[in-house]
Amino acid sequence: MTGRLAPIRINGAGPTGSLLALGLANFGYPIHLYDPLSANQICSRSRAYALTHSSRRLLTRLGLWDELALFLSPFKTLRLEDRGINQFVSYTYLDLHPENRSSLSVGWILDHCFLMKLLMSRLERSSQVTLFLGEAADQSPFTSDDFGLVIAADGPRSPTRAHFKFPWWSHSYSQGCLTAKVRFRDIDPEKAFECFRPEGPLAILPLGNTDFQVVWSASLHRCRQLAGLETSAFLDQLCTILPNGLEPDVLLDSPAAFPLEISFAPKLHQQNVVLVGESGHRCHPVGGQGLNLCWRDVETLLQLMTSASCVRRGLKAVPGRYSRLRFFDLLTVGLATDLLVRLFSNRQSAFLLVRRLGLFMLKHSPLFRRVSLQAMSDGPSTLLQKLPK
Ligand SMILES: Cc1cc2nc3c(=O)[nH]c(=O)nc-3n(C[C@H](O)[C@H](O)[C@H](O)COP(=O)(O)OP(=O)(O)OC[C@H]3O[C@@H](n4cnc5c(N)ncnc54)[C@H](O)[C@@H]3O)c2cc1C
Repeated sequence: MTGRLAPIRINGAGPTGSLLALGLANFGYPIHLYDPLSANQICSRSRAYALTHSSRRLLTRLGLWDELALFLSPFKTLRLEDRGINQFVSYTYLDLHPENRSSLSVGWILDHCFLMKLLMSRLERSSQVTLFLGEAADQSPFTSDDFGLVIAADGPRSPTRAHFKFPWWSHSYSQGCLTAKVRFRDIDPEKAFECFRPEGPLAILPLGNTDFQVVWSASLHRCRQLAGLETSAFLDQLCTILPNGLEPDVLLDSPAAFPLEISFAPKLHQQNVVLVGESGHRCHPVGGQGLNLCWRDVETLLQLMTSASCVRRGLKAVPGRYSRLRFFDLLTVGLATDLLVRLFSNRQSAFLLVRRLGLFMLKHSPLFRRVSLQAMSDGPSTLLQKLPK
């Protein structure tokens, strides 16, 4: 049966392309996975991801959750602070949708290296997947006719998207973002922080024990300056912006600065070519939505592959339906993150009033907290339909 199925080509073996390859391999299609980086290079990025419950469900369905559990750092409390008006609200697992509460965690932090090592080892063992990594990745032009589907999972600068001339809309923020791994003194290892500061949001995410990933948004110029500081000077600067009671002890990696943008392709497919993950959209890292949004693309594609019409008509109907089904989630999350950044970086009195009202509602209304946490954790589209099992 496998011999009669046209292969699926995936360009990009990052967290999106690799997870999708594993999921698609279950349908019996031969999968060709390409990346110009070697497996070692793909695994060695210094980054941590905040995983939400939509990602937990997908990883569970693909049989990866239990093995990853060893490397996950759960957080039971998420403290959201507005420094402009000195107000805060704490989310706990009791604010989750009832279906999610048994996990007892608001979310999890996962180190990129652990995730990618597990995905790579599963891919190497799969008889359906052929890996073309590093020098083996043929960079010469290819035609989409040779494949049942061509999937671009090659990141925000996607060469595949450029090759097939997809329309692409992009806006660069004046803010950039600095990431650093830091060890703290006397800190609750199961608490995550999202602080809205006038220069941009600051996230402090637990990595296990007293180690945390700091994601610090500020002007790109300031981020680059901070990244160039000596360790002690960097920790001194960090001290000045941390929530009360947090004290950094050791810097664990080299801080790195990145530009930030909001971008998306208005249409995620052309004939049998589809854009998945950051090749199709990108948003501000506030709220740690990025990878979870990419994996909801993966989830939708896998669901379409199991649907009756796909079984009957083959892969032809998949790209168009995928593009339509993803529109609402991508648009609402993109707009919500953009709105949050604009609202909380603004000191006009009307905006401060909206923030006071919003924080007041969150603090005093369990329903408001539940709905907002569900939108962040399961995706806004689940507010209009039943939560998937
Ligand atoms: C500073 C920062 C902090 C972030 N923090 C978080 C967070 O806390 N939580 C979260 O969920 N997300 C976070 N994100 C977002 C997250 O990193 C991305 O969502 C995620 O990396 C997207 O995965 P991807 O596989 O789509 O793309 P990528 O990770 O960019 O992978 C793309 C792959 O394609 C390969 N490639 C490139 N060119 C080609 C080609 N021609 N052919 C084949 N392959 C190619 C690349 O080598 C790479 O391996 C953050 C992002 C930034 C910048």
